[in-house]
Amino acid sequence: MNTIINNNYGKLPGSYLFAHIRQKVDAYLAKNPNADIIRLGIGDVTKPLTKSVIDALHHAVDEMGKAESFRGYGPEQGYDFLIDTIIEHEYTARGIELDRSEVFVSDGSKCDVAHIQELFSQSCRVAIGDPVYPVYLDSNVMAGRTGELGANGRFEGLTYLECTPSNGFAPSLPSSPVELIYLCSPNNPTGTVLSHDELTKWVRYAKENNAVIMYDSAYSAYIRDSKIPRSIYEIEGAKEVAIEFKSFSKTAGFTGLRCAFCVVPKELKRLDNEGNYQSLNEMWNRHQSTMFNGVSYVVQRAAQAVYSKEGLIEIQENVDYYMENARIIREGLILAGYEVFGGENAPYIWWRLPEGIDSMEFLDILLESCQVVGTPGVGFGPCGQGFFRLTAFGDRQRTLEAIDRISKMKIS
Ligand code: PLP
Repeated sequence: MNTIINNNYGKLPGSYLFAHIRQKVDAYLAKNPNADIIRLGIGDVTKPLTKSVIDALHHAVDEMGKAESFRGYGPEQGYDFLIDTIIEHEYTARGIELDRSEVFVSDGSKCDVAHIQELFSQSCRVAIGDPVYPVYLDSNVMAGRTGELGANGRFEGLTYLECTPSNGFAPSLPSSPVELIYLCSPNNPTGTVLSHDELTKWVRYAKENNAVIMYDSAYSAYIRDSKIPRSIYEIEGAKEVAIEFKSFSKTAGFTGLRCAFCVVPKELKRLDNEGNYQSLNEMWNRHQSTMFNGVSYVVQRAAQAVYSKEGLIEIQENVDYYMENARIIREGLILAGYEVFGGENAPYIWWRLPEGIDSMEFLDILLESCQVVGTPGVGFGPCGQGFFRLTAFGDRQRTLEAIDRISKMKIS
């Protein structure tokens, strides 16, 4: 009988990482029911939505209950009131001009970065970071742009851009050509950022090699250093080569509410098989019109409120709170004699484990000796071996307590 399923799904290993962590913690709790566990593992926010956002939600809900202000299906691309607000605050304020039709509101960057590859041919060669946010990888495996997973933990046919301390987590250009490049800054999981020069290098590469950059900037609100670009369009010529993704999830605590956006500039065009230039903006518009029915009116009003005068103050307070946690983790680990990366312009700390310690085994070590949970770096790719990710999204007192326990830990 003919196979009717997409066999590429069979190439994916199960996504065991967070399930594995949960199992470990559950097993530990079963043996130690009174253990006081501190979770610095999963990258979800903990602070509730801010007052401006909640007020906007209430107001929009009331509007939906009256005939004169009720809204049914909205534009798939997002309401103009939100798109205009995004352009004003995220782009015009940085000297970047965008047209309404270049911004696409969505229910999350995860869906956007996963679906964007549908615009490209199956034969495109793909480059992703190692370590990496797994969605870029898995979506391309599902689409059939890779071979099988090798014993070295890497898929055949994919270009891995190694991000290690020796290159300052800024990957070198690939030695063989690629057409789809995924860059993430501030980076999950390493917590590091790409400088203006690094991004310029990639924009130039993309231009010279007919490549397109998928620039995931879901954590741009955490950038504190004014020299670090918050948008790839701060780089000259980037509109011809890059699609940018941003999200309200980590900026404003929308992980449960769901709202994000991506920018597909009109300048971004690539040849079709008849030798005609096609606009990726028009293609994405077609994609969204067919595959997506828009973010709810209520949620888009809440996202708009993030940029109100009070809203901006409130979210900055939350970002500052998390970044103070990042400082506590970073400095605490350094003081305890460890080497750490990230955590200065991102809510993640990438902890280099003492020589020879396996990052999966360290999950047990940390749990047993400190009752602290983090994420083994190897779960994000082979280059994550020997590293451990801690997040700054926790409660202040618990973060302080975790670092206190870690400082007293003796690793044999
Ligand atoms: N991109 C990166 C790098 C992330 O770490 C995450 C979430 O953790 C996302 C995108 C997804 O964000 P969203 O909640 O908007 O889907």
